[in-house]
Amino acid sequence: MKNLAVLGATGSIGDSTLSVCRNNPELYTVKLLVASTSVDKMLSLCLEFNPSYVAMSCPNATAELAFKLKQENSASQVLNDEDELLQLLSSAEIDSVMAAIVGGAGLKTTLAAVKAGKEIFLANKESLVMSGQLFIDAVKLSGAKLWPVDSEHNAIYQALSPILQDCIGHCDLTAQGVSKILLTGSGGPFLNTPLDSFNTISPAQAVKHPNWSMGQKISIDSATMMNKGLEYIEARWLFNASREQLQVIIHPQSVIHSMVQYIDGSVIAQMGNADMRIPIAHVMGGAKRIESGAGNFDFFTSPEFSFMAPDYDRYPCLKLAIDACYQGQHATTTLNAANEIAVDAFLNGNILFTQISQLVDRVLQKTKTQSISSIEQLMEIDLIAKVSAREIIQRDLLC
Ligand code: NAD
Ligand code: MG
Repeated sequence: MKNLAVLGATGSIGDSTLSVCRNNPELYTVKLLVASTSVDKMLSLCLEFNPSYVAMSCPNATAELAFKLKQENSASQVLNDEDELLQLLSSAEIDSVMAAIVGGAGLKTTLAAVKAGKEIFLANKESLVMSGQLFIDAVKLSGAKLWPVDSEHNAIYQALSPILQDCIGHCDLTAQGVSKILLTGSGGPFLNTPLDSFNTISPAQAVKHPNWSMGQKISIDSATMMNKGLEYIEARWLFNASREQLQVIIHPQSVIHSMVQYIDGSVIAQMGNADMRIPIAHVMGGAKRIESGAGNFDFFTSPEFSFMAPDYDRYPCLKLAIDACYQGQHATTTLNAANEIAVDAFLNGNILFTQISQLVDRVLQKTKTQSISSIEQLMEIDLIAKVSAREIIQRDLLC
């Protein structure tokens, strides 16, 4: 039995992770659950899984949860603050960590677990986008085992040879005969929507993904294809891929979750239902295949597979992310921060759908090239980008 921490336990990935735990109770003891504000959901998870520890990032939620757990005579101990959480994540009490907090808010906890050499199930792509080389260096230094949970990266991982699987972050793709990593994406809900109606897209329309059920932020990111842009950066770091080795392909059916092409012309794809329990079960099972609860894919209900190149007029966020990937770490950190503010503003009805990319672009244009040597420096860039994005919204964009 390994001791598992689930960061982002009340979210969509948290749900899928705990569902895999229910299906495989002999594999993991749920030791720590972490979330931000959903007290009632966390309470019911605590009553079901009995974690030794639980933490909420919001102080009011912490107090309310402690009160309710006491009423229920629960033995779960509520952590007081972030320092206690970071200490616990670094301690011998935790073996494996599902990093599934949404956004840059997941960086500190994910990195703490990486630095302590834990087994990391990485769903929180934003932490890698924000810290790239520093993150990968920390993995190498601590010997942490990094498992990609994002369905595309998990698919790529499954299509790689064991030699490459063993050196995530510093793979030599060329030496192992890989010619290209083919990152697939559905194109989201607006693949066929006329471009001249993009200004009227509402948050309710944008949040409805045709194939996947996910949290709000990643659903909006999928509609703009910023998600694929973040995943492109994520793939660049996880697989040490060069520009020539990375390609985005639109595959509307979301059955092929990504592919690896080899120099002999072979292409290895991983396929299945669009259900995150599949990659989660893959990483949680480790060397062994385990039940995910997701069911098998039926090829006869989806006889058509199609593919196309992404159109950057339709998906300007994808282009911004790919460009940022080659501008440097300051640019990807800025892109991520500006996007978080833009998505939030769009969800709150403060900016239009089309202004998400405009805002990210404007914030990126203000950023200065600099080499990065510390997380503190990245946090400062993150903060400056967020302030700048909020200023632009207030001054020019507010609708
Ligand atoms: P979600 O919005 O459904 O859940 C987010 C979770 O993070 C919640 O439990 C929330 O309470 C917690 N949280 C937010 N801020 C926090 C903070 N400051 N401290 C502690 N907890 C905090 O999001 P999701 O869809 O589950 O996505 C989580 C992460 O996984 C994202 O980085 C996303 O890109 C990635 N991911 C998600 C999917 C998916 O299918 N949902 C697929 C691939 C990758
Ligand atoms: Mg993905």
